Amino acid sequence: MIVVMGRETSNDDLEAIRERIESKGLTAQINLGVERTVVGVMGSIPPDFKDEMELMNGVLEVVMISKPYKLASKEFHPDDTIIKVGDAVVGGPSPVIMAGPCSVEDEEQMVSTARAVKAAGATVMRGGAFKPRTSPYSFRGMGEDGLKLLQTAKQETGLPIITEVMAVEDVDTVAKYADILQIGARNMQNYNLLDEVGKLGKPVMVKRGLAASYEEWLLAAEYVMAGGNQEVILCERGIRGFETFTRFTLDVAAVPVIKRLSHLPIVCDPSHSTGKWYLVTPVALASVAAGAHGLIIEVHPNPDVAKCDGPQSLTFENFDMLMEQVKAIASVREQSVTTA
Ligand code: PEP
Ligand code: MN
Repeated sequence: MIVVMGRETSNDDLEAIRERIESKGLTAQINLGVERTVVGVMGSIPPDFKDEMELMNGVLEVVMISKPYKLASKEFHPDDTIIKVGDAVVGGPSPVIMAGPCSVEDEEQMVSTARAVKAAGATVMRGGAFKPRTSPYSFRGMGEDGLKLLQTAKQETGLPIITEVMAVEDVDTVAKYADILQIGARNMQNYNLLDEVGKLGKPVMVKRGLAASYEEWLLAAEYVMAGGNQEVILCERGIRGFETFTRFTLDVAAVPVIKRLSHLPIVCDPSHSTGKWYLVTPVALASVAAGAHGLIIEVHPNPDVAKCDGPQSLTFENFDMLMEQVKAIASVREQSVTTA
């Protein structure tokens, strides 16, 4: 249920609303919007409570939200959520480009890649230090040493860092280094992990699970938000289909669907969805044309020797070409690409 109040609502009225909600064992989440204040009521709503709320001072309207996600919904928060990280503004009119290797390998790799992607216009650096691998025998990342190399790349270029956290016990360590914490597709329904990153004061990017519906994905975002962290970015990274030529299938419709259902920014990952470097640019362009708020792209100085995901990684030169084309598509949408 949401309680809609006028923009001029007094603090006393708002407090009275909060107290009444909490007196029923429910939780209130207040969103002070530009046009109106919306109070989200979380929990099991008793009968007649809607009528009770409608009579309170300052209340314009009480709306029952039938969707299972509330905080992530457009009804609760009609204005788009904008998340600022360094020079990147995620959720605004210009797509934000996040780029870097699949996994952190060494200092030279990180610093050279950070410089190259920044020069091409990326405003966030990616790199995995904790890697979810299908096989336990594959390279599983450098752990905290990898986080330190991400920090070095940040010091060299000023680019903020996005990196994955896989386990509850690593959240504090990863949060020390990361500007955005990534929840990988395989962990989208790791509810303890979602609870834990919900306690942070840092943005979290939730990747869509391999076979997750929009609703399940938005409920994963809801976990983070219910914990108090409203800075959530969604990432469409491809879902499982029957095709095996591509690694996954990027669901480009997810972009306008999420923009309709939610106020959260939506970015696309053409690297993991295609699995092939020569498909990355076309799928990136489709994502931006569909209105994605950003892209996350794998780039490696020498993809042939990458420890992880070489076949889908772009060389610096190919990333430059991708950026030129992305800027052209963004300008067709009357957007400009924010560059570093
Ligand atoms: C990644 O971005 O490093 C990654 C492992 O992606 P996903 O979780 O989408 O497979
Ligand atoms: Mn990868």
